[in-house]
Amino acid sequence: NTFAEIDLGDALNLNIRRCKYVKPTPVQRHAIPIALAGRDLMACAQTGSGKTAAFCFPIISGIMRGHFPQRPRGVRTVFPLGLILSPTRELSMQIHEEARKFSYQTGVRVVVAYGGAPINQQLRELERGVDILVATPGRLVDLLERAKVSLQMIRYLALDEADRMLDMGFEPQIRKIVEQMDMPPRGERQTMLFSATFPKEIQRMASDFLSNYIFLTV
Ligand code: AMP
Repeated sequence: NTFAEIDLGDALNLNIRRCKYVKPTPVQRHAIPIALAGRDLMACAQTGSGKTAAFCFPIISGIMRGHFPQRPRGVRTVFPLGLILSPTRELSMQIHEEARKFSYQTGVRVVVAYGGAPINQQLRELERGVDILVATPGRLVDLLERAKVSLQMIRYLALDEADRMLDMGFEPQIRKIVEQMDMPPRGERQTMLFSATFPKEIQRMASDFLSNYIFLTV
């Protein structure tokens, strides 16, 4: 009923209090326990429903508390553990801003990369290390082609506003991105798909990218 009752790890629970979030919104109340239990999830969520926290909290909590294989260091490629895909530069910036507040002093580093802006500063941020990457699909494909980012170690994937990403023609890029995560050596990946509408293209994406998932409508 309140965030204080959900154990997300001390540092994250403290940040949630600092953000003055007390009660979970409906999508948070249902999605967070499902995600913490490790299940894949497809959720119906509109803007303003609190969906950003619904996918950020389980990812930050999981990375903060999880044990992961050592990632290569000192190479020019970075290996994020979490990836949040979003359709636009504005939305990516918003998610990044929120995720940074939630991850303050957790040891989890969040970096954003979007198109329509010079890539050099984004590259410098990436080179300092990244646990969670927030990205638009086109810019991420660019980074993958430059071998600046590897998706081999992704354990958490969130697709935000999936219907809008399809409307914008990003399906080929999204498929390319997910294919890279499916290449061996592939570990367990948890996937969360958020969308306001569920046309058959979204349902097909869900059946291709999610496994044994829970469909949540609130
Ligand atoms: P979103 O739908 O993720 O864009 O969130 C909409 C707005 O609600 C944002 O300004 C959030 O910071 C805020 N918000 C999300 N969840 C909560 C909550 N549980 N309590 C208070 N504010 C929230």
